[in-house]
Formats: sequence, C-alpha cells, structure tokens
Amino acid sequence: MRSRVDNPHDHPTGRCRICTANDREALVEDLARALWDSRRSGTLDDVPLDQAAAHWQRVFHEFAQAALDILDPQAG
Ligand SMILES: [Zn+2]
Repeated sequence: MRSRVDNPHDHPTGRCRICTANDREALVEDLARALWDSRRSGTLDDVPLDQAAAHWQRVFHEFAQAALDILDPQAG
C-alpha cells in the first residue's frame, strides 16, 4: 500500500479524509453510514445502519467501497 504522506491529493489547503485515513475499513464504515443516513429518512428502514437488514448493510458497504475506489483508485 502506498504512503498517503508521499502521495497526498493535490489540495490547495489541507488534506482530505481520504488522504489522511490510516484505517480504510473505518473510513468505509463511516461513509456507508453517511450514505445510509442520507437515504433512510421517511422510509420503512429509518433506523441506524447497524440495525438495518443485513442486505442493506452489505449493499451500503459496497456503495462506500465503490465510491472510495473511484475517488482514490491507487489505494486499497
Ligand atoms: Zn485528499
């Protein structure tokens, strides 16, 4: 795995969470939860992701992984 310190994104100021995350699994977790929270309001599944059906937990982790893969294709 490449060093994020050696390969920062080309940000004008500071570095984003993708640059600085040491624990990619934790970043996937947080992203999956955020994606879920953005969609759950007003649905029958309006519960935290860790209480949602296993199917949805798996799908949203896959969404998060896919999003990170396209944003940061050299990582993982
Ligand atoms: Zn970055």
